[in-house]
Amino acid sequence: MSLHDKKSLTTISLPEAVKRPGVGTLSVAGKELEFERNEQLVRLFGSAAMFNHGGGKFNDIDLSNALAKIRELPCVVIQPKYSVNSIKHQMLQNIGISASDGALIPHIADFIPDLLLIEKATPEDQEILVNGSRLKVQKGDERLAIKVFDIKHTSESNPSYCAEIAMYSLMLANWLESQPSLSKRFYVSANAYLWTLKKQGESSIDALENKIKRTPAECVSALIDDSEVTYLRYYLGAVRQFFEDVSRVIKVADISPDSWKSLDWHVVSSCSNCDWLGDKRHLGKAQHGCIDNARDSYCITSASDSGHLSLIPGITRGAKKTLELNSIFDASSLSTSMGHPALQQHTMLKKEAGILPAKTKAILDNQLDKDSSAVIASLAGYSNLQLFVSINFDASAGLLTGMSVSGLVTEYISGVSPTRFSAVPFIVDEKTLEAEWVALEGLLSQIADNIERAEQVLGKKDIKGQIHIWESYSQIWWECNLNCVNACR
Ligand code: SF4
Repeated sequence: MSLHDKKSLTTISLPEAVKRPGVGTLSVAGKELEFERNEQLVRLFGSAAMFNHGGGKFNDIDLSNALAKIRELPCVVIQPKYSVNSIKHQMLQNIGISASDGALIPHIADFIPDLLLIEKATPEDQEILVNGSRLKVQKGDERLAIKVFDIKHTSESNPSYCAEIAMYSLMLANWLESQPSLSKRFYVSANAYLWTLKKQGESSIDALENKIKRTPAECVSALIDDSEVTYLRYYLGAVRQFFEDVSRVIKVADISPDSWKSLDWHVVSSCSNCDWLGDKRHLGKAQHGCIDNARDSYCITSASDSGHLSLIPGITRGAKKTLELNSIFDASSLSTSMGHPALQQHTMLKKEAGILPAKTKAILDNQLDKDSSAVIASLAGYSNLQLFVSINFDASAGLLTGMSVSGLVTEYISGVSPTRFSAVPFIVDEKTLEAEWVALEGLLSQIADNIERAEQVLGKKDIKGQIHIWESYSQIWWECNLNCVNACR
């Protein structure tokens, strides 16, 4: 969804959008891939494929008509179109947008996912509800599941594409609820897929096409096998965030034509597709003038001219916020901040506190430098002590909300079970740095205790340890190995 069409951009004071030269080619390649795959589906599903083909292309089809006409299962609906604009306010209320913010959301265009797979409900499935939550499908549910697929000309899935499918699915759940005759017969499944190029060369669909006979179940299984799961449970929340961001930006934009300049911005790798990045290295010569004539309107040139903190690789939005709260507003101030307490108030800053100012200076001066005190660590081949640390983080507050540690100690003797340390939780009671430190100190003490207990269990001092950190916000496993003699003391 774009807030402005191209025409309106020229009449308001936003700078001209400058697209990378390769974007058009990518878009054409994406359309060709969609066409090829749609044809493949038609061959595969035969009369169970619902589509409109004409003028050398596949055309959009009205979803309510298509669903009403379903006669055989499983079936696929190619390029279905549905709209939530007439139920916009109800839909926004359903997903938790306040009435005042919802009133700011502009017209919502039609949604046209590439493909829907319709099949019988299974008890392993989950239904997406209109508010974005999920509900387990009950045994004996006779409704039909609608699974959203999107075809992507990309080697693998990424969070933006998954969020796009989450948008399609959640909007579809709301649309379905507004169609009483259909909502009794269908539900939107939380199992949605991206049909990327990942399986190219070992495609199950290609293999199936070479078989003389194939069953509908084999076709469905091949389609799912060639696609990537989108794990919508992680992305449905992003839809609400998206609409909240839209209303936030509109509120700022409504103040004055130039107020977009006061929005917070931060150049990161995900900016690479943005039309206002202004990276001349990736633009045609014809577009260089746009950037040169309005350097403060494009993010890369503006960052470079103003010494914006996002110039420094690794500085995240959170790290920038912490620095700004401590009156370090630009790269120049950061380059002279060695020993500043702000560098101890954020995980990333803390990690790089010893080198960040020098690194920033080297970038600003364009001079290579080296860190003579740097130490390179290596991972232990095995560990006697394994500690599992779970950390929950409130991204909006920038604070931890709770932690826990459990573990095991073993000497890898056949027939001897590991000694297990049960989980000990540490809750951060208040949203303050002090309360966070109390909990963190408790966790570190517990880790030190566990190391001592491990030494006692094994009867030696030089055991090897490994800490697995599970951080639920980003769902990433981090591992750090340590030699327990030196660590956590
Ligand atoms: S910060 Fe990134 S995404 Fe935002 S306007 Fe600048 S380049 Fe675009």
